Amino acid sequence: MQENRSLHNALRQVRHHVGKVNIHGFSVSGLATYLQLPEYDFCVDMGECPVSAIGINHVFLTHAHGDHSRCLMRHHSLRRMMGVEKPSVYYISEDLVPGAEKWIHSEAIFEGVPEQRFKLPEIVAMKAGEKVPLKYRKDLSIEAFRTRHTQVGRQNFLPSMGVTLYNHKNKLKDEFLGYDTTQIIELRKQGIEITREVFDPLITFMGDCLGDNLTDPDLAAIWNSEVLVTECTFVDDGEESMADKKGHTHIAQLVKALEIYGPTMQCKHIVLNHFSMKYSSDHILGTILKKIPEAYRDKIIAFI
Ligand SMILES: [Zn+2]
Ligand SMILES: [Zn+2]
Repeated sequence: MQENRSLHNALRQVRHHVGKVNIHGFSVSGLATYLQLPEYDFCVDMGECPVSAIGINHVFLTHAHGDHSRCLMRHHSLRRMMGVEKPSVYYISEDLVPGAEKWIHSEAIFEGVPEQRFKLPEIVAMKAGEKVPLKYRKDLSIEAFRTRHTQVGRQNFLPSMGVTLYNHKNKLKDEFLGYDTTQIIELRKQGIEITREVFDPLITFMGDCLGDNLTDPDLAAIWNSEVLVTECTFVDDGEESMADKKGHTHIAQLVKALEIYGPTMQCKHIVLNHFSMKYSSDHILGTILKKIPEAYRDKIIAFI
């Protein structure tokens, strides 16, 4: 296994076109993770903040580990420095919000911002299972879900969340399909609700998580997204227990999940990210080829 140093430069942006989505970013375990969807004005995590992130208005944070969160406020301040007036919005797990506010405040004071000039950025406290429209993109909504990543004590985990981005539209109810414009206008006049809300799951990000999240029946909806982005920190034989100990996913757990959900899933593309920095790209690609069953190999994209 040869180390590939060019893999490890967090400012060397990786770009993949996946289904309807462009994903621009970087993700190597422990170094940095940020995943931008430029067309959707959305970014997941901000472990590094390249200039290309500045125009993005909505940022979701999966958890507080530095390699995912470190540049959240750099994003905020770079925007102001470059004259972007629209306030960016940060979507953060509700239980991380008080700590995030303290951290943001301390960082500003450390940088010499006078107390009277300090202002918190706009933060939306995310609750699992609630669909929240993106502030500047009413055609898009996000829904966060609880994941299990870093265990503290026997039962507890540090707060961590995955997120699904939905296309949100209103569609004509089935019973009115085929009605002409006059009939539709008449129904509207009578105050009849003729549309229903539809949420199409475009892409799901798991964030850092234990591999058993992938087979958790409570999270089965992740397999309905057109694209699933999931971490795959460990890929080698014999590293399964290390993956568990460190709160990460081993490729064998993805294979197991594919056995269960593969035959029925809606998911067309699976993006694997957050590989351990000890692997070279050749090693990652070779292992995927070897371990992912042939039926699913075309769906897999390594985010390297
Ligand atoms: Zn990480
Ligand atoms: Zn983490």
